[in-house]
Amino acid sequence: MTTVLVFVDRTSPDEAHGDALPKSTQELLTLARAAGDPAVVVAGPLSGPVKEALGAHGVARIYQSEQAELADYLVAPKADLLAQVAREASAAVVLLGNTPEAKEIAARAGILLSAGVVSDAVGLESGPEGGLLADKSVLAGSYLVKARATTATAIFTVKPNTVEPEEAVQASSPEVQVVEVAFGPASLGARIVERTVKPVSGRPDLTEARIVVAGGRGVDGDFGPIEELADALGGAVGASRAATDAGWIEHSAQIGQTGHTVSPQLYISAGISGAIQQKAGMQTAKVIVAVNKDAESPVFEIADFGVVGDLFKVLPQAAAEIKRRRG
Ligand SMILES: Cc1cc2nc3c(=O)[nH]c(=O)nc-3n(C[C@H](O)[C@H](O)[C@H](O)COP(=O)(O)OP(=O)(O)OC[C@H]3O[C@@H](n4cnc5c(N)ncnc54)[C@H](O)[C@@H]3O)c2cc1C
Repeated sequence: MTTVLVFVDRTSPDEAHGDALPKSTQELLTLARAAGDPAVVVAGPLSGPVKEALGAHGVARIYQSEQAELADYLVAPKADLLAQVAREASAAVVLLGNTPEAKEIAARAGILLSAGVVSDAVGLESGPEGGLLADKSVLAGSYLVKARATTATAIFTVKPNTVEPEEAVQASSPEVQVVEVAFGPASLGARIVERTVKPVSGRPDLTEARIVVAGGRGVDGDFGPIEELADALGGAVGASRAATDAGWIEHSAQIGQTGHTVSPQLYISAGISGAIQQKAGMQTAKVIVAVNKDAESPVFEIADFGVVGDLFKVLPQAAAEIKRRRG
């Protein structure tokens, strides 16, 4: 059976101390099971509960390394580890998340393994000639294409919310095997000299959130209604470039061609015109709801549901109704 290797990075202080598997990792494991025999390579510490959670996802073998270089340097040693394990495990498919860091690890590992890399996948399926086909949204979201790697090993970086994460019907038994990997990192170019923990907002991570509420120039400096609706729905807050450039919200909230790409189950766009560069970052969302006071706004061309109205009236009413129904 095809070995599908999933890369799990536990080197960041947050990951190392949390005992839950991030949703994006659970999604990768769900895809891995559908494509073959899942194995995992963990960079960083592996706690008992994480090992158990991986077992519940049908992982029978975990390759792990806690070598200091993995946490002390930027991505290169992680790519070295991944490439070594992919060779050892004879992995035909390697899956990673779609963060900028994961994409760089994929690219470097691709060079080390002479493997084709397909990034930004929003779907994976078996191809007619064997191997996997990835769905990709390209050219600022104007086309959905299918891409496959023609090499013996194929590496895919997959966007969050591509599948509904599910545990395996049968957990791996009797015991998950952990293989400690010693490796000689070849590339130690950029060392991390300091880390500053970002203040926690209490909202889900923008790129992983199932629900995103985004505001644009139409909020006119006041993200209050956007935040209120996001909190009522348990969602993340995003923004157009007009809003981040104006300094109304931090740049990390920007969605679009030069910001984050998000694929949530629900994307609520408020006071955003829907320029092509904004669409590029959100049009693979499963359901798009647009609130805009201009009925001719291009955002309505891609919206599944549209409300022509003032966001300062529509959003608070929606938030109040959601809170009322949720009790
Ligand atoms: C190379 C390049 C890269 C770019 N990258 C990005 C990117 O990553 N992300 C991005 O977003 N943009 C990006 N842009 C900018 C993009 O072209 C648009 O300028 C930007 O998306 C516009 O933001 P906006 O929709 O918030 O503002 P506007 O286009 O000004 O639209 C504001 C909208 O709000 C509506 N509105 C106003 N008041 C209200 C109200 N009270 N209630 C309801 N609706 C209201 C208006 O009708 C209007 O449709 C990029 C541009 C370039 C050239």
